[in-house]
Amino acid sequence: MTASVSTLPSAQHVLESVFGYQQFRMGQEEVIAHAVAGHDSLVIMPTGGGKSLCYQVPALVRGGLTIVLSPLISLMKDQVDALRASGVAAAYMNSTLARQESAQIFNDLHNNRLQVLYLSPERLMVGDFLQYLQQLPISLFAIDEAHCISSWGHDFRPEYNELGKLKQLFPNVPLMALTATADDATRLDILNQLQMHDPKVSMSSFDRPNIRYSLVEKFKALDQLKRYVKQQDGVSGIVYCTSRKRVEEVAEGLSRAGFDAKPYHAGLSQQERQDTQETFIRDELDIVVATVAFGMGINKPNVRFVVHYDLPKNIESYYQETGRAGRDGLPAEALLMFDPADIMRVRYMVEQTENEQQQRVEMHKLNTMVAFAEAQTCRRQVLLNYFGEFNDKPCGNCDICLDPPKRYDGARDAQMALSCVYRVGQAFGMAYVVDVLRGSQNQRVKERGHDKLSTFGIGKAKSQEHWLSVLRQLIHSGLLLQNITRSSVLQLTEAARPVLRGEQELELAEPRLQPITNVDKAPKRSSRIANFNYDRKLFAALRKLRKDIADSENIPPYVVFNDASLAEMAEIKPQNEAEMLDISGVGHVKLERFGRQFLTKIAAYD
Ligand code: ADP
Ligand code: ZN
Repeated sequence: MTASVSTLPSAQHVLESVFGYQQFRMGQEEVIAHAVAGHDSLVIMPTGGGKSLCYQVPALVRGGLTIVLSPLISLMKDQVDALRASGVAAAYMNSTLARQESAQIFNDLHNNRLQVLYLSPERLMVGDFLQYLQQLPISLFAIDEAHCISSWGHDFRPEYNELGKLKQLFPNVPLMALTATADDATRLDILNQLQMHDPKVSMSSFDRPNIRYSLVEKFKALDQLKRYVKQQDGVSGIVYCTSRKRVEEVAEGLSRAGFDAKPYHAGLSQQERQDTQETFIRDELDIVVATVAFGMGINKPNVRFVVHYDLPKNIESYYQETGRAGRDGLPAEALLMFDPADIMRVRYMVEQTENEQQQRVEMHKLNTMVAFAEAQTCRRQVLLNYFGEFNDKPCGNCDICLDPPKRYDGARDAQMALSCVYRVGQAFGMAYVVDVLRGSQNQRVKERGHDKLSTFGIGKAKSQEHWLSVLRQLIHSGLLLQNITRSSVLQLTEAARPVLRGEQELELAEPRLQPITNVDKAPKRSSRIANFNYDRKLFAALRKLRKDIADSENIPPYVVFNDASLAEMAEIKPQNEAEMLDISGVGHVKLERFGRQFLTKIAAYD
């Protein structure tokens, strides 16, 4: 199946006719050209950046058979479905496959009828499969999630070690390793272990401009979350929590409030997890509340929001998890709910790490995560700086840029709060102090006679959240400390004296309580959908049609067309096949298979 040079299609042609896209994304084109020319490469791109296309296009341009190694069995099937929907002869082999299906694939391989074959690394190493492959016209090996080969990475998999053999057995076949993990140690490890030949290392921008990063201070967290989810109005989202228990609580809280939410964590049965994942991917479930166990292998493109209900341990995980939002390039939001008390909890977890050096690394990473949460400058700049990408322009699409922190003269508030802590004998926690400040008719307060204190009710004019935020800031700036050996009671420090006596000025920040809700306002950068101005009713009708087609073909809806394509159809309203082909994501085969039904629907709409 080695096509002669003259019949080989160009990369641009494949992009347009097979995948239906007009332009390569940043970084894709050069990587593709390099692989087409037969060279090795390491591709580092953020989650959702478009890695798959980097090997799928060369696979079709080079002809022959491309082998894709991937650890994620669930993902393989979806990728293969998607390629087939675009007319590419693709298949996968892993432990889930029935004998008969395997026989069919061997038959296709034998007759050079396959263009792309997905394998798990274990499958590649079974018996003499590698030797068998040596007889086939292999044109490229793509190693997805390549950081799994490195014990420095966060997801080391021993079966990846064996992939070091590939270069010896196939010295003339180009190798492409792909990952979203950018640190130097992992990168070097990948290059060494795969024994790549003079590799090109391509590192794309880590920016995902369509994702809005925002943060709210966490007060009554579940209520805040419910309010947020309600505003999202039935779109798909993921809520990450750190513990299984918390996942259960939050999922139940959301369900009870009438939201379509399910829990996902490693303590649930394989079957339950699979069902949840499947219904989510098929747009039959709105919200998954999950631990970090959820997500690897979810490439559902229309996740519109990712909430972190608890503070993540490091920026790497945070970034990877938020990267699951908005893969389709449409506006999406990453919301971090931040309670400074979470820092202590994560710190404690890190302290349980046995290995001292690892503990130091993790502590450092936690500190940078905290710095992100406390940042008073553009969040995207902080993130991109972390990944070594410097940018001196604020992004205009994060909470800090859209709603700059407001500072006020906080000396009086601080005085009230500090003296209240003093009056209650430095023997109570935050919630109690706030009760006294706000003059709450709470039984505990009365029993102790604290309703007679001079500070009782002096802060009535301001909300509970306001006072909690003031106390947090006083802790943060070292005027108060929380005594963890005595159930977190608040105590004054030496530094509090001058403030208490009114001898020192103090600026405080207004608490950030409300996320900026209107995701539609996100500035569009490189997209053709200029204002995200599509016809919502038509979009809903097209989604319905897509769901019907997907169900009858037993594929996920996004394999038919993703939301970006539907939104564009609902804006441009193509009237004929040529106009339909202009829609991003509509290639020739998809036009043939699904395009007419969509044209009919659009024509009937007006
Ligand atoms: P990841 O880097 O996380 O593996 P994917 O390969 O899954 O990302 O791509 C993310 C999404 O971006 C997919 O829906 C894909 O179809 C889309 N995509 C990739 N390249 C392009 C492009 N050049 N134009 C438009 N959409 C693209
Ligand atoms: Zn910004």
